[in-house]
Amino acid sequence: MTAAGGTVTVPDVGSIAFPPQAFADAATVRASVTHEPEVDDLFNATAATLLSADHRVPYELRVDVGSAQPAAAATVSLKLPAPYRATLRSTSQIRVFAANVWDDPDSAVATFEMLPERFPFTSESVTVSVPPHFFTDGVGGGGTFTLTLLVATAPTVPDEATLPPTESADTCSGATLRPPLDGELTVTSPFSTRTHPVLKKVHQHSGTDYQAAEGTNVKAMADGVVEYSRYEVKESNGTVVGYGHYIVLRHKDGSGSLYAHLQEGSLAAKGTAVHAGDTIAKSGKSGGVTGPHLHVEYSPNGTVFTKDSRVDPAACIGAGPTGSITVQDDNSPGSAFTVAVDRRHVCEVTVGGQRSCVIGGLHPGIRQITITAMPGTGGDHTRYKIILNDGLKFPNGATEQTDYIYWLTRSNTVNVNVPEPAK
Ligand SMILES: [Zn+2]
Repeated sequence: MTAAGGTVTVPDVGSIAFPPQAFADAATVRASVTHEPEVDDLFNATAATLLSADHRVPYELRVDVGSAQPAAAATVSLKLPAPYRATLRSTSQIRVFAANVWDDPDSAVATFEMLPERFPFTSESVTVSVPPHFFTDGVGGGGTFTLTLLVATAPTVPDEATLPPTESADTCSGATLRPPLDGELTVTSPFSTRTHPVLKKVHQHSGTDYQAAEGTNVKAMADGVVEYSRYEVKESNGTVVGYGHYIVLRHKDGSGSLYAHLQEGSLAAKGTAVHAGDTIAKSGKSGGVTGPHLHVEYSPNGTVFTKDSRVDPAACIGAGPTGSITVQDDNSPGSAFTVAVDRRHVCEVTVGGQRSCVIGGLHPGIRQITITAMPGTGGDHTRYKIILNDGLKFPNGATEQTDYIYWLTRSNTVNVNVPEPAK
């Protein structure tokens, strides 16, 4: 393939088209169809579990582009085999899943992500735009960039197309947190889900790094219990990556926070109950680091080790109204819904995936919470429970509400009174 771009076709399966300037130098693009057990494993562990994906086409498309990531998105069209289409039902939509590797100094994991295009279950073919970062050279960087794509179904989601985009980077998507260190906080590496502007490879950083000399006291960002207190490193192509000594706190609103690269021997034990501001460890330089610092992660929905559920903790640290709203499912397999605040989409509870949403950083006054049901598996309704924490109340003074939504009704809206922050 030259700088003029071009198209590679796999007979009976589909085609991959690259626009002009996708490659600076001539590139050899090879497309093949495979069905590897490790792709099945990755699909089952990530897309099926976290995104409720099901009914996958029994092969995957692999596109090998050589030693350089493309500079522009590729357009991929895939035909859907007739026997596969015969198994689909109207409660499903067809989606395309692309393998991705989150490779940063703190952790390195492979996962399947769902591309945004949606297709009705009657489709005979699908066409998607695949951004450059899905051409990945693997954990630690193997030097050969490959795209792995597959087709599967996901539950239909009503009205999602009309929802505004999720929170902006500087908006706290969880509860208000206490600082993890005393004194002035200096961010040495911000939370980032974007393509690095200089490095050719995508740089994902799902936490915030703070400047901290070895031995600095690390503080709990909210009340909770030590859920994990342990050590983890991986070796990846000769480089050490991983959290080193780290702590995960489970907070009373269901959220989780993680503190990494801590000093050996300084960690609070698993099961210890802590209050916001308590010392839980000393900072250090264990694990995959170039120097001492504190790496902090925050997962408002509580699924701590799922990259997509983490939000920027820095946006949640500091002043602001306290209190948060937890919306959780009832542990039945069919419950799935989205939650919006003042019509702003905040998060989702998915079938087999995350079980609760925690919403904080709310402005004082009456806030409108809208829960929209997504058809799940079995039954005709979705159950949920709303728990108001730290001074928030429903207009009738209650702090808990259990209710359900028929899928045909689709949504319920309730008002929540958020008090002015205490002076
Ligand atoms: Zn970090």
